[in-house]
Amino acid sequence: MPLSGGRSNGSVHETASLTAADPGHGCSLAFADSAEALRSHRGPCAWEVSAASGRSTILNMTVARQFSAVDVRRHVVVIGAGAVGSVTAIEALRAGLRVTVVEPDEPGGPQATSYGNAGWLSSHSVVPPALPGAWRKVPGWLADPLGPLALRWRYLPRATPWLLRYLASGWTEARVQRTAKVLRTLLADAPMLHALLAAEAGVPQLIEQRGLLHAYRSRSEFEADALGWRVRGRVGIRWEEWDEDELRRREPDLDVRYTLGIFVPEAGHCRNPGAYVAALARHALAAGARRTAARATGFRIDGGRLRAVHTEAGDIACDAAVICAGARSAALAAAAGSPVPLESERGYHVVVEDAMVGPRTPVMVADGKLIAHWMDGGLRAAGQVEIGGLEAAPDWRRAEILHRHLKSMFPRLAQVAPDSPSVKRWLGHRPSMPDGLPCIGPARASADIILAFGHGHVGLCGSARTGRLVTQLLAGAAPEVALAPFDPQRFG
Ligand SMILES: Cc1cc2nc3c(=O)[nH]c(=O)nc-3n(C[C@H](O)[C@H](O)[C@H](O)COP(=O)(O)OP(=O)(O)OC[C@H]3O[C@@H](n4cnc5c(N)ncnc54)[C@H](O)[C@@H]3O)c2cc1C
Repeated sequence: MPLSGGRSNGSVHETASLTAADPGHGCSLAFADSAEALRSHRGPCAWEVSAASGRSTILNMTVARQFSAVDVRRHVVVIGAGAVGSVTAIEALRAGLRVTVVEPDEPGGPQATSYGNAGWLSSHSVVPPALPGAWRKVPGWLADPLGPLALRWRYLPRATPWLLRYLASGWTEARVQRTAKVLRTLLADAPMLHALLAAEAGVPQLIEQRGLLHAYRSRSEFEADALGWRVRGRVGIRWEEWDEDELRRREPDLDVRYTLGIFVPEAGHCRNPGAYVAALARHALAAGARRTAARATGFRIDGGRLRAVHTEAGDIACDAAVICAGARSAALAAAAGSPVPLESERGYHVVVEDAMVGPRTPVMVADGKLIAHWMDGGLRAAGQVEIGGLEAAPDWRRAEILHRHLKSMFPRLAQVAPDSPSVKRWLGHRPSMPDGLPCIGPARASADIILAFGHGHVGLCGSARTGRLVTQLLAGAAPEVALAPFDPQRFG
């Protein structure tokens, strides 16, 4: 029976739920300090705390001891339980911090961008979307009804400053190279880090490390992308070229118009990002994190020290906080004294649940700029960039474009009608900074508040190292990679 311990903290009554787990996994955790246990714990098991057995008194005393040991530790509030927040919660617990997760919805649910993404753990995705000369292609993309980019014209005045910065950051190859070098420090071993996290959370099957594929129609189409591959090569990324025969052999269902494959062996993917994030959040709760199901609204800061996080359910007294609310982080960052140019790059997915054909390796096609792969729920195509802000209603025509591309990539794909119940559609918000780099670092108003958002197209992939870096900041340890390029204050 799960054992619940209630505790009053500020005006919020928090409930700690210590869930039963696998006592036979080589962990003797019932008598351990929870933080120490998490630090030393490497396997997919959690705490066993049962009040139902004859050992209830001893176990209850153990729980009391766990909490008293933990209570004197620094209390950090993690705002948002997407990929970044859930990993951060786990890493902070591992470092011995006391953690409360503030998340209004179910962790890993469809409100989170982490739910519906393409699942690529693409450690090679170091090239920002805006490249030199991109501005010349923009009118063509916008004019193409099947193109990868759309703009809500009414939103243009608000988006213009961000768009100009976005184009400027990719203006020269040198700038792109600099971004790639920095992003590589964040992403380099992400597939391995995620495999470890998934194993720890009891869902090892959700992370696969068997490479990712880019498919081109011709060598000249590949050469049009040469700058990106050149930049990747310079930061140590290696790939294999598959000629037409090899591509046909490896991807028999892919349309014959694709004649060149670029296969990146080091990359991996996630088979169900929503379920993965939900499992990470569950693991953090099982390891002692608390959850407040409410929206964070601001901070109480006295003399540069954080005293509490304001939430819709009241204040939570704490020593530190991490803002990982994805695309909805800007208001909280501003409340912490760090206004940032965060924009939503809206993206869509479709999942064809009854698909009978598809790729063997997760594949991105250069002509449609979308990713297709099997997820637990069916064949998913994800992509599109739509600039239109957080509040505009979905334009499901963008999802239909993905569906059409998917059917043209795999011509034998069952001709499922767009409004068939077996085709699921989703809109999500990539939290994007104009320079293609996330914000990871302290807020201006208080170093007790860490910003950790803005990962754009690579937030699932980049969440693993981000959680570690944030924890190193919280613990006052030297960060394992240089954080200056991610400084939230870099925009002035
Ligand atoms: C179509 C598409 C495809 C993508 N493909 C990939 C891919 O293949 N690989 C990859 O690495 N990335 C991909 N991305 C990007 C990736 O999904 C995001 O960068 C990542 O999910 C961001 O994670 P996050 O934890 O920062 O935010 P989210 O996952 O959005 O989580 C934020 C959480 O904060 C909560 N929240 C919001 N406001 C508050 C508040 N005030 N208080 C408390 N909680 C709050 C939300 O409810 C949410 O649960 C894709 C994105 C899209 C749209």
